[in-house]
Amino acid sequence: METCSNAEWKERGDKVFVGTYSRYPAAMISGSGCRLVDADGREYLDFLSGIAVCILGHCHPAVTAAIAAQASRLVHVSNLYYTEPQVRLAEMLVANSFADKVFFCNSGAEANEAAIKLARIAGGAGRYQVISLSGSFHGRTLATVAATGQSKFHKGFEPLPEGFVHAPFGDLEGLAGLISEKTCAVLCEPMQGEGGVRPLDGAYLRGIRELCDRHRLLLIFDEIQTGMGRTGTLFAYQQLGVTPDIITLAKGLGNGLPIGAMMARAETAAAFTPGTHASTFGGNPVASAAAVATLETLLANGFLPRVEETGLYLRGRLSELAQRFPQHIVAVRGMGLLLGAVLSESTSAQGTVIVNRMFERGYLLNFAGNVALRFAPPLVVERADIDTMIAVLAEVLAEL
Ligand SMILES: *Cc1c(COP(=O)(O)O)cnc(C)c1O
Repeated sequence: METCSNAEWKERGDKVFVGTYSRYPAAMISGSGCRLVDADGREYLDFLSGIAVCILGHCHPAVTAAIAAQASRLVHVSNLYYTEPQVRLAEMLVANSFADKVFFCNSGAEANEAAIKLARIAGGAGRYQVISLSGSFHGRTLATVAATGQSKFHKGFEPLPEGFVHAPFGDLEGLAGLISEKTCAVLCEPMQGEGGVRPLDGAYLRGIRELCDRHRLLLIFDEIQTGMGRTGTLFAYQQLGVTPDIITLAKGLGNGLPIGAMMARAETAAAFTPGTHASTFGGNPVASAAAVATLETLLANGFLPRVEETGLYLRGRLSELAQRFPQHIVAVRGMGLLLGAVLSESTSAQGTVIVNRMFERGYLLNFAGNVALRFAPPLVVERADIDTMIAVLAEVLAEL
């Protein structure tokens, strides 16, 4: 096999890739648990998990074995037929959530597209408008980008599809004022991820639920980032006291294999009938087998409580940094192992600098929403790894 250095992979890639990403100058070659190794043999400690995807860490043995076994049996048949892994996965998701029915797709944006289409067709003629929140992120397809409440994602793509309005974050009356006879749903993340790890407080979420009930609107929770144990419970809604009508999943679902899901109660899901929606690859047997193995591991005794404990530990260590560097870190927020260190106004201009310096020292994290350093390590992260990361972050902050 040919071997190239980081610099060579970068040069070759930049020549042929569409320029949608500004990538770090590293070609990742292998991974295990929380560690990655690049083409120059450098090791990284991963506090981002491929953007909250590899929840069990890289190449978790149970998931790798499930992928290998399914890949040697059957890889794809389309949704014209049933497959064992897809049925098993749907049964597990239904047994562990409020939902009765599951639609599988391949990504987060596609899961939200399915939710938006379901809300429209269930709403009936003339009810098509979806209210989402400012600061939200729902994907990059035209409909999900229209639902996304951040104008930087809209620029250059207008006219965006009709039927999306944004309520100011945290403002229940503002949201109520947007409801009309055209409204079919409210779409929100129970905690904004890309928007800067910004939780929605319980009273706000309950208020949104009440508005939806009063106006017969569907409440869609985008748990693409917060779902799959990331917050310490299988889904974030389970610890917030508010149950949605539709939920969307993707990121952590397949521990790295591309799979998404849109789930709903039976009476809502009934609006989708044969021919109304589809996906060729959705719930592909290999991706579904990976997701079954991932869920089995997450649901095993003691796994989720440990996520909560480790999350509290990381939060405590970040809070110590906030006390030591109050000029840089003004707050620590989030749930479970999705945490943000909110930077002060002056330091936020250097958010990317901090992330780059951490990268140079072999620690992966990112800067979300131009406000917070985001920590989303594999849920199996060890306290010793948290301690070394915190020590290095302290050095970087001290050097600013
Ligand atoms: C990542 C993300 C999406 C988009 O998922 P893709 O798989 O990139 O399409 C949508 N919503 C939320 C909350 C996300 O974090």
